[in-house]
Amino acid sequence: MQDRFPAQERFSDGAQYIAGRLTKGTSGAVHTVIDPATGEEVLTYELAGADDVDAAVAAARAAFPGWSAATPGERSDAMHRFAAVLADRAEDLARAESLQCGKPLKLTREFDVPGTIDNTSFFAGAARHLAGQSAGEYSGDHTSYVRREPIGVVGSIAPWNYPLQMAAWKILPAIAAGNTIVLKPAELTPLTSLLFARAATEAGIPDGVVNIVTGTGRTAGEHLVGHPGVAMTSFTGSTAVGKRVAEVATATVKRLHLELGGKAPLLVFDDADLEAAANGAVAGALINTGQDCTAATRAYVQRPLYEAFVERTAALMGTVRVGDPFAPGTDLGPLVSHQQRDRVAAFVDRARGYARVVTGGEAPSGELKSGAYYLPTLIADAAQDSEVVQSEIFGPVLVVLPFDGDDEGIALANDTPYGLAASAWTRDVFRANRATREIQAGCVWINDHIPIISEMPHGGYKASGFGKDMSAYSFEEYTQVKHVMFDNTAVARKPWHRTVFGDS
Ligand code: NAD
Repeated sequence: MQDRFPAQERFSDGAQYIAGRLTKGTSGAVHTVIDPATGEEVLTYELAGADDVDAAVAAARAAFPGWSAATPGERSDAMHRFAAVLADRAEDLARAESLQCGKPLKLTREFDVPGTIDNTSFFAGAARHLAGQSAGEYSGDHTSYVRREPIGVVGSIAPWNYPLQMAAWKILPAIAAGNTIVLKPAELTPLTSLLFARAATEAGIPDGVVNIVTGTGRTAGEHLVGHPGVAMTSFTGSTAVGKRVAEVATATVKRLHLELGGKAPLLVFDDADLEAAANGAVAGALINTGQDCTAATRAYVQRPLYEAFVERTAALMGTVRVGDPFAPGTDLGPLVSHQQRDRVAAFVDRARGYARVVTGGEAPSGELKSGAYYLPTLIADAAQDSEVVQSEIFGPVLVVLPFDGDDEGIALANDTPYGLAASAWTRDVFRANRATREIQAGCVWINDHIPIISEMPHGGYKASGFGKDMSAYSFEEYTQVKHVMFDNTAVARKPWHRTVFGDS
């Protein structure tokens, strides 16, 4: 399957990217990347150990003085060139991402890759707009101002669901603000983070500014989070691992940014456009085969529309073409791994005991049998406190529940530990406005579900974490502010010295 993307050939020098070049990991262990569409081997690479993390942190520390002292204009120019190199490599990036994740080429070509190029252009521009508050004579005798400074070396950890976009979301704001970075992608999906880092070097971003270590969470990840040479940890992944990362980072007093799991509700009021809501629910639930932290996972539908919504949603799911990610005409690819598919299937199998599986609920047969495929699945009549309503399944599974009054709908939408994203569907402006106020989530869409843009922040409430990716808000995470105060009096004995030198 080398024609899909020649990973073995591209990464024959290794799958670590340290100080501007590919090297082999020295942990002594290897990992094999599997194509989830076929079960075939894509790349066997040497995993990073502690020594590789140390080398990457050393490279990032060495690059920090030069990169942080570059003018915003110089950083911006380099990042504009970076966006141009990425645009040149767009097809390579799309194929590598489709291969390692099982994403249809349609998705990587139209979403992951253009989104990443747009993020890069956005942060190239934003690098020149790092503003502080105004300076002033607040004490009367001094001039004060605020400097916004980079933090140092950022250690980032990313998940496997959007490897390229997660690398971009972590790396771009960090380097635009003058930091240097060591990113650890998920060991399942290292290819596009490595291609991304190489493109940075080709664009003239100095060696050591962007480093990638590909290793396991326990070995490379935890060593990076606890590393004394790292000033900040930025983590995207599950809430369970995020808690562990927070413990390790806190023990070494690091700045912490956590983007964790989600269980996004889709709230359909009885005045909604049913066809729009059903289409939105299916697209929002199935994007990236449901492996999306903001995916629509719980549809709450007001009683008068409930049965019709279940019927229409099930019918729409039946039109989605499951197939090989590289084949034209495929809408939905496999899950990222057979293990993830089995995890999703186990959730659905357990749900049969307490809810109704309306459609799907099985792996496709025939020629797709060897891949990690699972059919689009709709579950109805589950209780609010049941596992499929409360836990992140991370697969192509939508649960539909009815509600009566508006108060109840909003309360149910808020009734999970998570708070990453939500949508409300209504033609009533007051209902829409109330939903945006009362739903506890970092993003609320009205009459749509999923779109993201570089200019707007992404991040969670509650157990979905804290801090923002993308947009100018991300600079709050990746910079620190310093108060600078100048004496304007030039006198030796200042008025406030009276508190120390007697009463006169
Ligand atoms: P995960 O938490 O299992 O792993 C995420 C990363 O953490 C991987 O790189 C892994 O190797 C690493 N890791 C594991 N144990 C570690 C440890 N002890 N110390 C340091 N690093 C460790 O998540 P996943 O299964 O790769 O991804 C799916 C999860 O990510 C879902 O919960 C999803 O909601 C979440 N996610 C959240 C967002 C967001 O923006 N909030 C975006 C994408 C994915």
